[in-house]
Amino acid sequence: MQRKNLWAPWRIEYIKGLSEKSDCFVCDYINSPENDEQNHVLWRSQHCMVLFNRFPYNNGHLLICPVRHIPDLDSASDEELLEMMKLTRDCQKVLSEAIMPHGFNVGLNFGRCAGAGLPEHMHIHIVPRWDGDTNFMAVCADTDVISQGLANLFDQLKQISKKQNLPNL
Ligand SMILES: [Zn+2]
Repeated sequence: MQRKNLWAPWRIEYIKGLSEKSDCFVCDYINSPENDEQNHVLWRSQHCMVLFNRFPYNNGHLLICPVRHIPDLDSASDEELLEMMKLTRDCQKVLSEAIMPHGFNVGLNFGRCAGAGLPEHMHIHIVPRWDGDTNFMAVCADTDVISQGLANLFDQLKQISKKQNLPNL
């Protein structure tokens, strides 16, 4: 079977930034709640934070992070593990209402070789998918479209969260 790539050329800015910065942006975000809107932090829960990936693979790409700076599942408490799974459910719920994806990729990358951009602070990727989106993205997507979409979608998800009382932990 031929493998299709989901192209995300704007990620080059992110990849270039990796070698320049060593700080943990997740911890920075966690420690600055006053900037939640600007940082596109969607939800804060007791043990976790949910935010938009600024360099998305696809529209609506969310990240679920434990509040603690931990690298892997082995370091996570039962409470953190449970909350991350419940937030995975709620992310799918809010995205389903907002942008009606046909499917989702839900994933964890451990170690840079596995694609983890921030290996020291674990996070779950929630990536909405649509039939044929690999083709669509390669032809039509560009950085401006995604950036605009991100701010609009953030507002939309905030509204739905309020209406549906999400995250519903
Ligand atoms: Zn961190």
